[in-house]
Amino acid sequence: MQTYDLVILGGGPGGYPLAVRMARKGWQVAIVDAADEFGGTCLNWGCIPTKALLASARNYHQLKNAADFGLSCSEAGFDWQKIQERKRRITVQLRQGIIKLLEKSGVKIFNGRGQLCKNRLIRVTSNEDGSVSEIQAKKICLAVGSVPAAPGVFPTDREIFWTSNEALNADNVPESLLVVGGGVIGIELGQVFAEFGSKVCIVEMMPQILPGLDNATAKRLLPVFKKAGLEILVGKRVESLVEKNGKAVATIDGGEREFDKVLIAVGRRVNMSFMQDSDLQLETEKGFIRIDENFMTSEPDVYAIGDAVKGPMLAHKASYDAMILVEQWQGKKVAADYSLVPSCVYTHPEIAWVGLSEDQLKERQIEYKTGRSMFSANGKALTAGEGDGQIKTLLSPDGKLLGAVIWGPEASNIINEATMMSQFGIDSHAFGMMIHPHPTLSEAFMESIENATGEGVHG
Ligand SMILES: Cc1cc2nc3c(=O)[nH]c(=O)nc-3n(C[C@H](O)[C@H](O)[C@H](O)COP(=O)(O)OP(=O)(O)OC[C@H]3O[C@@H](n4cnc5c(N)ncnc54)[C@H](O)[C@@H]3O)c2cc1C
Repeated sequence: MQTYDLVILGGGPGGYPLAVRMARKGWQVAIVDAADEFGGTCLNWGCIPTKALLASARNYHQLKNAADFGLSCSEAGFDWQKIQERKRRITVQLRQGIIKLLEKSGVKIFNGRGQLCKNRLIRVTSNEDGSVSEIQAKKICLAVGSVPAAPGVFPTDREIFWTSNEALNADNVPESLLVVGGGVIGIELGQVFAEFGSKVCIVEMMPQILPGLDNATAKRLLPVFKKAGLEILVGKRVESLVEKNGKAVATIDGGEREFDKVLIAVGRRVNMSFMQDSDLQLETEKGFIRIDENFMTSEPDVYAIGDAVKGPMLAHKASYDAMILVEQWQGKKVAADYSLVPSCVYTHPEIAWVGLSEDQLKERQIEYKTGRSMFSANGKALTAGEGDGQIKTLLSPDGKLLGAVIWGPEASNIINEATMMSQFGIDSHAFGMMIHPHPTLSEAFMESIENATGEGVHG
């Protein structure tokens, strides 16, 4: 039996960068993934497929509104199968890239379900023929990610009651869709189907959509999404869900409504399949694998990163965990800090935020000043037909950025200015001296900072 320096369970955005980085440092590394394809949730059932569908939805919207740009288009149409095919092509291309990268770095790949056993032994059941092999490791990293949580109160028939996995691979666009949960996944997928003609109703039991987003922005976005064709009910509960004559019947706030399909988007849970029939006990904490500040689990030399451990369930957080772990294994005294993990929603309009929200600043009684800028005053946004939206920045009295929230064009890219400013402690005056090209959307971010300090030309 071969002994590896490191065996990683899971080839998602946590696992595969860790494998590549450590192999490049000369470690003997093996990676095991239970799915037939590498790339994890992010590439196969998450970030990339949703963004591919959202891109088709956005372009379809543009086509329908071509006249806004002085263009004519006799009939805007779509072919759902081709949209799905495009999505698949993109994921295949990216998957092939990951496999090449792993191979080039000398990482040994195992396709199969890994089971964690005592004394850093991994038992792999091959996807291909079900045969079982054993791998010994000096260190193990569990980058096993998460799967959709579908609590027992919901029906299990996945024909009608979808999780995000079924929604992403839908054969056609349902006439009506109920989305249970107004988080990122529910809102993004809701917008995809609404754009292609579904009557979409999103029900969120909390008082606002998108938990973590500041309350004022979440409220401000409700009419924006309504205009985009989404019916959103906040502070309402789906009390029951049953199948009747091939349709879903939902009781919402005491009233019955019928839908063709339901997307259950109420969260995700750690994929604990590596513990199935294991001779080992691993401690968990609130459903996540418990780790210390060095990512070590309750089992010596067994580590865990990404969705499987505490912190935001995001692809870039999983990759960040991997990076910190590499630094720690090289003897550097660093610890993970999730205070500046940006959150992004890739709807139209996009939404992004980082750092502390206005609600949190008030709650913690931290002094701050607010800066705002509107995309309706930004040349680049107007030329692109994207004048809706705004940027809010929150600065300390000495000009350090405490938090930012953006809704509008390219919010997910512009937010990097905020993260950088906060992470490197750049104050508002120094930031104002940085030359932003004109015309760009990022100028709106600079305007917002200058608005907070009163140094802005445009107010
Ligand atoms: C619909 C949707 C959209 C999303 N959009 C975004 C987005 O836009 N941006 C963003 O940052 N995040 C997004 N996410 C979240 C993101 O996908 C996850 O946070 C990220 O993939 C977590 O990475 P990971 O490496 O921890 O785990 P995963 O990506 O889940 O990878 C874990 C891998 O481990 C494998 N595995 C599990 N158990 C075993 C076992 N026993 N043996 C072998 N292999 C095993 C799995 O097959 C899987 O391939 C989205 C998620 C969903 C569902």
